Amino acid sequence: MTGMLDAGGMFREVAATQVLLSTTSPRIRFVEFAADEEKENGADWLWWWVDRDGTCYGLLVQAKILKLHGKRWSIDFSYKTRGDDRTQLSKLINAANHFHVPAAYVLYCGDSQYRSTLTCDRAHDDVPCRERDRVGVSAVSALVAETAVGLDVRNAGVSAFHDAVPVEDITSPDGLDAPIVPLARGLAKDLDRFLRQPQRGSRRVAKELLRPVQRIRNGQFAGAAVMEHAAPVTGALFENVPNDYGHFSVPYLAHMLRGLRAEVPDYVRDVLEGRTLPTWVTDQLGGIVVIPDADAPAVVPGRASDSGAGRRLSGLRETPRPPHGRRPGQAA
Ligand SMILES: [Zn+2]
Repeated sequence: MTGMLDAGGMFREVAATQVLLSTTSPRIRFVEFAADEEKENGADWLWWWVDRDGTCYGLLVQAKILKLHGKRWSIDFSYKTRGDDRTQLSKLINAANHFHVPAAYVLYCGDSQYRSTLTCDRAHDDVPCRERDRVGVSAVSALVAETAVGLDVRNAGVSAFHDAVPVEDITSPDGLDAPIVPLARGLAKDLDRFLRQPQRGSRRVAKELLRPVQRIRNGQFAGAAVMEHAAPVTGALFENVPNDYGHFSVPYLAHMLRGLRAEVPDYVRDVLEGRTLPTWVTDQLGGIVVIPDADAPAVVPGRASDSGAGRRLSGLRETPRPPHGRRPGQAA
């Protein structure tokens, strides 16, 4: 992203994804599927984090760019293709049903110099969101984006960016995992423990993506939380999940947690073992990313490791550089 900006250009979703994947391979495994050109930009990818014991978490992901239009920072969540009334956002949430996983965005947000004019009106604990480390590649639930679009479409990009978590940090065992306080009382014991106690690996990814969604739900005056259970997904780690919608378009806990599985789906195993994938998977996607050993301990950079399996995503760290004014890529 920085390279394109320095050269006076602008980074794009497909190229940024390819750089991300080539930089993080072989720690991360991936397969790309042939897509027709028209579909390519909007193509969804499946991302799966797989722990050593087979527990895993899947997401249907669409890549988006944080862009400057005039003086306004935005992400085109409400983009529509010609002849189709539905937004990409609602189509993404729908498409995720096909794989029984939650829908999310991976945001490409450039470096801190690129974001230097971004202002966010929400509260910040220590640093404003534009200056956060590692936020150049971040992930956020589609339900957060849906809420942001519903509240104020002009500010939706900045709002979703505020809630996005650096991809590098979502499985980091050294980060703080504060308890998530559910609105509902009397949750199933295993689910309650998951929310309150620190997690790692794929469970931690699920928690980090759920955290801003739950915060939004806790701020909604949508009445008492519904305790009736959602229909369980085959292989889901938690079988008794409340069917509570709040103001979301889907039951948010069931949606966010259906990607958390006790066993690795066959097509994810196919990726790991180099087999051909079934067409019901390949026809729908731009590709699949698999992060194996997601719960392996992080290895301190520069220290020798026998397997390298726990190495955090490398090559994504932003190096702060002195600002040298607006670059051509930032001019609207
Ligand atoms: Zn912010």
